[in-house]
Amino acid sequence: MTKHPTAAPAPVQFYNTLVRHKEIFRSLAGRQARIYTCGPTVYNFAHIGNFRAYTFEDILCRTLRYAGYEVQQVMNLTDVDDKTIRGSRQAGVPLKAFTQPFVDAFFADLRTLNIEPAAVYPAATDHVPEMIALIQRLFANGLAYHSEDGSVYFKVAALPAYGKLAHLDLSSLRTGARVAQDEYEKESVGDFALWKAWDASDGDVAWDSPWGRGRPGWHIECSAMGMKYLGETFDLHTGGIDNLFPHHENELAQSEGATGKPFVNYWMHCAHLRVNGEKMSKSLGNFFTLRDLLAKGYAGRELRYVLINGHYRQPLNFTFEAVEAARTSLARIDEFSDRLAEAARTATPAPELPEWAAAYRNLFNTALFDDLNVPEALAALFALVREGNTALQATVLPPSGAAAVRALVADFDRVLGVVSFGRRGANGELPAKVAQLVEARRIARQTKNWAEADRLRDELVRLGWEVRDGKDGQKVKKL
Ligand code: AMP
Ligand code: ZN
Repeated sequence: MTKHPTAAPAPVQFYNTLVRHKEIFRSLAGRQARIYTCGPTVYNFAHIGNFRAYTFEDILCRTLRYAGYEVQQVMNLTDVDDKTIRGSRQAGVPLKAFTQPFVDAFFADLRTLNIEPAAVYPAATDHVPEMIALIQRLFANGLAYHSEDGSVYFKVAALPAYGKLAHLDLSSLRTGARVAQDEYEKESVGDFALWKAWDASDGDVAWDSPWGRGRPGWHIECSAMGMKYLGETFDLHTGGIDNLFPHHENELAQSEGATGKPFVNYWMHCAHLRVNGEKMSKSLGNFFTLRDLLAKGYAGRELRYVLINGHYRQPLNFTFEAVEAARTSLARIDEFSDRLAEAARTATPAPELPEWAAAYRNLFNTALFDDLNVPEALAALFALVREGNTALQATVLPPSGAAAVRALVADFDRVLGVVSFGRRGANGELPAKVAQLVEARRIARQTKNWAEADRLRDELVRLGWEVRDGKDGQKVKKL
């Protein structure tokens, strides 16, 4: 859907975990939508359960763009917490050296899954001063205290709103009970660590603070980075459902406790990816990394298709049959778009969308704008494929109609991100994979990552595309 730049964004509604029902999305600043996404804990390769969360968030950002918003997404990298410190100690390498390969792998995996890059990926270790400043504000507001060992805790009983996101019943809370770990269950609700005093298990991971040497708790990291990049109040905060408690509850408490303002207007959480009915997780050992699956011969877009083909609030069961089915479905869409390109070869510059196709656009948009119903949006796309194939077969689709339907498929794919347009489109657009690499290269150049820019150029050459850098950016030509 090509939007006129001044048109208001289309109405979109989302299920807001804070109020437990769907709400029309209203952004704080007109066309801008500001989103914070809890990113990976870089102590290992992310598994595809994690990527269910990141693809859901990608669909959210893409949908907002498609609806006419300008999206500002921030995704943090948790590179200091209980798990990363434990991992680096076990591996016998400094923390940064331990986490860096997992950061690099994460970015490579995002590209493989055609997940659009966030605007910023702040790392926790680069924001310790902001975390310290935030803890000082909590002290000033009577919400933080020292424990005997020099750690600093958040005083849950001093914030009446505590529990409002996870809907906790705090009547049984034992006041003064404390929990030092980053992750814990609802049964352990209690004062949680904002700053952990150094102990031998931290090795050389420590920062100076007004409370002595130590390191931040996990939750304060996201409060500090979210507010630094998006302001004290922003639109959306997302994560997997396991982030809801304690992580998001604690983030909310710290942020609102410090500022006295609402932290986030809409909280969105995706359900888990499962294997045989159980959450896919590192601790259960029932996980696949993206690399495992690529090594089995599956393509990134096939896995992306599997991950988006379920409503994000419903658990999704991972099976190899689903990946096989994704391959078949994608081949059907690719073939359709190629047939359209062929039929559109003599199209005039003014493509005309037939009425029957416009009806599917309405179905697609309605499904997507109603809390990101991707399965229904895909059903609309397949109905379009079916009817379009029939029209092509009966040669009743004129070239201008074929060009318009192909542009519609490309438009749907701005959100879905799965179609492989085998050749340049009727309107000269690049194949999706090529466009994705060119965009990644643009970002690499912008951030002066020349080695990555060169690597992407080589990858484009392998795909048969030459890229040249000029005054107006990159020029791409089929070799
Ligand atoms: P972590 O690296 O453990 O902090 O998790 C990164 C993201 O993945 C968080 O948003 C988690 O909620 C999410 N996540 C973890 N396991 C799953 C799963 N099996 N299905 C969906 N999301 C998950
Ligand atoms: Zn977080």
